[in-house]
This record gives sequence, C-alpha cells and structure tokens, in this order.
Amino acid sequence: MDLLSLVSLATKRRSDFFSQAKTLARKYKEQPRLEERMKAESLGLVKGLRDKLMRWEEYERTVLDKTLVSALAACILGIKDDATDRKLEKCWPIIVGDMLPPLTKFLAETKEYIDSGVLRLGDQTVDFADYNLLGAIPGAIELGVDEIEGINPEEEGVEEASQRRAQGRSWPALADRVSRYLATPTFAFYNLGQYMVAQDQGFKEMRRVAKDDKKTCKDCRDYDTQGWTPIGELPMPGKGCRCYDRCRCFIEYR
Ligand SMILES: [Zn+2]
Ligand SMILES: [Zn+2]
Repeated sequence: MDLLSLVSLATKRRSDFFSQAKTLARKYKEQPRLEERMKAESLGLVKGLRDKLMRWEEYERTVLDKTLVSALAACILGIKDDATDRKLEKCWPIIVGDMLPPLTKFLAETKEYIDSGVLRLGDQTVDFADYNLLGAIPGAIELGVDEIEGINPEEEGVEEASQRRAQGRSWPALADRVSRYLATPTFAFYNLGQYMVAQDQGFKEMRRVAKDDKKTCKDCRDYDTQGWTPIGELPMPGKGCRCYDRCRCFIEYR
C-alpha cells in the first residue's frame, strides 16, 4: 500500500481509532504497561503472519491500526483526562505524520522479503521462544542489564547489522522491528500528551533530561546541557536524536 492509501485509510477510521485508544488507555493505565502489551502483540502478529493464520492484507491492516491506536493511547495516558478530546485532535496529525511514512516503507520491505523468499511463510525452523523479543540471539551470553546499558547506539547499530536483525530479514528480527512501531514509540507519544497539558497550563519553559548512562547518545546529552529553554523549542524524546524511538529522555516543565 502506498503512503496516500495508508493515510486515507487512517483518516476514514479516525473516530474508530480514538475510541479504541481510550479503551486501551483505560485498560493499561501506565505507559510502561502499554509498551509491554504492544511488544507482546508485535510478536503475536508476526507469528500469525508466519504461521499463515492471517493473510498479508490482514497483517498490513492490523499493523497500521495498532500503530495508530497505541500511539493515541499513549497520548491519552500523557494527557490524563485534561480535555482529552481536544488535545487528542492536536496529537493526531503529529502521529500520522511521524508514523505513516516510515511504516509505508517498512511494510513494503517486509512484503518484498516475503515475495523474494527471504522470509518464508510457514517456516518453523526458528522458534520465537529462543529469542528474547528485543533481539538476543539464541546461545549468546546473557548480558546483565548494566552491561546492555553500556552499549552505545553506534556500537549497537554495528552489532545489529552484523547479526542481520536490524533489517527484519528473519522472523524474530521482524517481530523486533514491528515493536518499534507498536511499542517503543509509546514513550514519545506519552511525552507529547504531557506536553499538550503543560502548554495549556501556561508553563513557559521546558528542559530535556537525558538518562545518564553510556547508552545515551550525544544529541540527548547536548539537549540536556542546554537546560531550561522556552517551551516548544526542544524536540520531544525520540526526535532530533539518534536514539529515535529508544530514547528515554524525560521532559520537565516550569
Ligand atoms: Zn539520544
Ligand atoms: Zn534521549
């Protein structure tokens, strides 16, 4: 599906997405729980496609729906019942603009891998259970959380490339990539919701506080050192930094 078809499909179903998102937000209540849930759904979707429980068209449509609904739900969690509908209206074009262009490309790439046999439907040679959804390779040494934190984004990129999992060329790698649409962006959209509230409440300044570990990229550190800045002048976490959706900077307002 091209970008235009994806956007018009999304626009047509907008009010439906809004009500689904409200239900989801009510159910999971906190962004980390929503993110966990969406990770599990990413895995379920990719398994469903591989095991031929769903056809390509259904997979494509479901990835689109869930990407938008989870982003909206994350915004709602950030907004916290503060004139939700009006603020959600403002979040919608941002979600569509951020998510649909890369999603179009990603879906086209996956389709290509299937058509060319890189990803084989019905291929049961790899068990998803052998993989930690976020990328560990079976048989690899288990790293403790601290050691994982120590890998910086550049090193991680090289490592991902060498394991060919960044490109989604294996089923577990694909599940990981799907979760970068359904799950990890919830953090940024949660922050977007909070930003809408801060703006409304008349806060004048913002600052972006980087998670101070070795994994934090240079961009995030730079924003951190800028300190207090007029509201609206700093990009939201995950934007303007090379951590992208994995950025876990937080924003403070005053
Ligand atoms: Zn960063
Ligand atoms: Zn960051």
